[in-house]
Amino acid sequence: MITLVLGSLLLGAVVWIVVLLTGRESSNKSSLEQAQSPETLKIRSLLEATMGAMREGLLVVDKDMRVVASNPAAQKLFNPSIPALKSQRLTELTRNPAVYSAFLDGLKGIERNDVKVETHGPERQVFDLRVIPIGKANGNGAEGALGVFFDITRTERLELVRQEFLSNVSHELRTPLTSIIAFVETLETGATEDPESCQRFLSIIRKNASRMHELIDDILELTAIEGGNVQLRAAPVKLQGVVHDVCSSLAVKASAHSVTLKNDIASEVIVHADVRRLEQMLTNLIENGIKFSHEHGTVTISYESGERDKILVHDNGEGIPAQHLERLFERFYRVDRARSRNMGGTGLGLAIVKHLALLHGGEVTVTSELGKGSTFILHLPKP
Ligand code: ADP
Repeated sequence: MITLVLGSLLLGAVVWIVVLLTGRESSNKSSLEQAQSPETLKIRSLLEATMGAMREGLLVVDKDMRVVASNPAAQKLFNPSIPALKSQRLTELTRNPAVYSAFLDGLKGIERNDVKVETHGPERQVFDLRVIPIGKANGNGAEGALGVFFDITRTERLELVRQEFLSNVSHELRTPLTSIIAFVETLETGATEDPESCQRFLSIIRKNASRMHELIDDILELTAIEGGNVQLRAAPVKLQGVVHDVCSSLAVKASAHSVTLKNDIASEVIVHADVRRLEQMLTNLIENGIKFSHEHGTVTISYESGERDKILVHDNGEGIPAQHLERLFERFYRVDRARSRNMGGTGLGLAIVKHLALLHGGEVTVTSELGKGSTFILHLPKP
């Protein structure tokens, strides 16, 4: 909708610009003089600057489908290697039938809106093209046609991400929900008479309901962080104490997996962070270390000083195959989907860590060797 309104405004201004730039009015002497007056030249240079700064590609063709005006954005879109788009035929610039037919309609006096144009260069780009006729349409159509290419690549990508996210969330919620419904139905059909089964089914129902709860909590958390609704209260923090607290809260889990947690932070280390958020990041990373460790494994938390503070969470567990490392911090990305789900993860932990680290002005990275273990590193800027 905003694109449409902006588009209409832009098109109005642009028609004006084109008339000035192409000097269509200068067919007789007095208008030529007028076009060269200081006033007009000033407006002209202002408009040229505007066209040059426009992100939208602008292309004007005459009756013969030859380019009569364009701006740098259009040149970048069609052919960045030639010095200027001038007098080429539209077919020399693009073989895209959607573009050609939109301009053809423009020349027939028909306005075209929302023509979707995709380019398949090294980078896929998507444009929303609007074409309007220029010059009074008489029996032979318009004198020219003007097209504005709005780059909607980013909007499209965001829309795709949103759809993917929604479909992931629905899928993640459906699995535990299906299980809950199935067990409730089993209980309804008489399993209540057997107290042992009854207890077992109830505990499965509880486990699945908790999973849904955790998932919703994580989604809300991630949405808040990504939406900029989380305020950090960064301050100097004694790292050893924070790591100690996190390890204590995970002690039961660690011992259930027979994993040792090792706090290797020296007592004097101070980092600059929001203490609650730091705990949250460390909890996620250490918990993963525990989950993906072998029995009797060790998760070690250490610190390195450099340009930025580095907090390392190292495990000597199963490691992560190299091809997964790049996508590991994406929402719901898991190396082994079914297994990770069974371990009780939501698939959002690392995405939350990534966004919290970014919010601190830092980042999280990972190195891993299959069969040997992984090291997640939180890089935090020094104050
Ligand atoms: P989950 O809730 O599944 O743990 P995360 O976002 O925390 O979700 O992690 C995403 C995936 O990254 C995990 O499912 C797992 O495949 C992989 N992963 C994370 N940490 C480790 C680790 N320390 N060792 C091996 N794999 C890991």
